[in-house]
Amino acid sequence: MPDRRRHRYRKPILTQVSFNKPYLTGRELEYIRQAHEFMHLSGDGPFTKRCQAWLERAIGCRKALLTHSCTGALEMAALLSGIGPGDEIIMPSFTFVSTANAFVLRGGVPVFVDVREDTLNLDESKVEAAITPRTRAIVVVHYAGIACAMDRLCAIAKRHGLLLIEDAAQALGASYRGRPLGSFGEMAAISFHETKNLISGEGGALLLNRDQLIERAEIIREKGTNRSQFFRGDVDKYTWVDVGSSFLPSDILAAFLWAQLEAADSITTARQALWRRYHQAFADSERAGRARRPIVPSEAAPNAHTYFLILRDSAARSRFIQRLRQDDIYAVFHYVPLHSSPAGRKYGRASASMSVTDAVSERLVRLPLWIGLESLQEHVIERCRSALQD
Ligand SMILES: *Cc1c(COP(=O)(O)O)cnc(C)c1O
Repeated sequence: MPDRRRHRYRKPILTQVSFNKPYLTGRELEYIRQAHEFMHLSGDGPFTKRCQAWLERAIGCRKALLTHSCTGALEMAALLSGIGPGDEIIMPSFTFVSTANAFVLRGGVPVFVDVREDTLNLDESKVEAAITPRTRAIVVVHYAGIACAMDRLCAIAKRHGLLLIEDAAQALGASYRGRPLGSFGEMAAISFHETKNLISGEGGALLLNRDQLIERAEIIREKGTNRSQFFRGDVDKYTWVDVGSSFLPSDILAAFLWAQLEAADSITTARQALWRRYHQAFADSERAGRARRPIVPSEAAPNAHTYFLILRDSAARSRFIQRLRQDDIYAVFHYVPLHSSPAGRKYGRASASMSVTDAVSERLVRLPLWIGLESLQEHVIERCRSALQD
């Protein structure tokens, strides 16, 4: 092994470059201590209220409700949609399992529609062909924080009387035509999982953009009780009024999250600088046909959630990942398409050809992108460029 190292190309840094590294602002423990002092340890305490008010302001949604995960927020959205057995939900297949699972848990049938070659988001031109009399909702996913074509998708949903739900797990801080993602659909779900831009380890939020959904959402989130109304003094006793579950996080977790939300702008700015540096560095690899870079439509202002490259074929991707691993740099692929997964085949169906999804998913590779990478990024870029020449 020492031999191998000696022959290796100059390697200025001995640390390994992980794919993801959670960023801490430094105030997390201080706020957790405060939450401890407040002695409101369950959900909906002062920090939860602060985080929710921040989200409502930043996104412009009618109501934000913190949840224990984006998965939980999507499950709430499925309950609020009134999805029942046999109801169909249009969604991309190039997404995380929770997008589909939340609706399958209600007996819904995910109907997978192919993605666009450029943005890797739901192809709006193929959505209408997938609509049937059983279709109830369209779920869009803003992949990598790059906005879907919301103008056309909103119009399609409206024309067919369908609910529009945004899986905005990766999209906090991103916008479309100057309007924050998460404010377009009837509902949206965001994630604070430690792999996202703003984090609390596990965590998420359901965003509601229709006043009529708020009361029932609060009830579903509080185990089917009207406890939220009781604490506000709207009712004089609380009781079981609807179906529900426990979706709210402890205020200790919300305290952690508050430290992140406070720093949201600087976190997004720092990530965007890393993203742009990659983008400039791979311009000539793209010209040489070695890799395709992300394509950002002019209406979209992304949050630099992910930087990815699309290589020539899956063999080229495996070689690339392997080459970087030899340098202790961890680049990773992403979703295995849901339509061809065992559960996707059992519970859902593809509406038509999924050729773009299939082609892209086996060629896409994500590069390390985390605050703190700045001093290593030149090295990562240099190794990537070298691996691309193979
Ligand atoms: C991360 C992610 C989720 C799940 O988020 P959790 O907070 O881990 O439940 C759902 N959908 C998409 C598109 C994601 O990227």
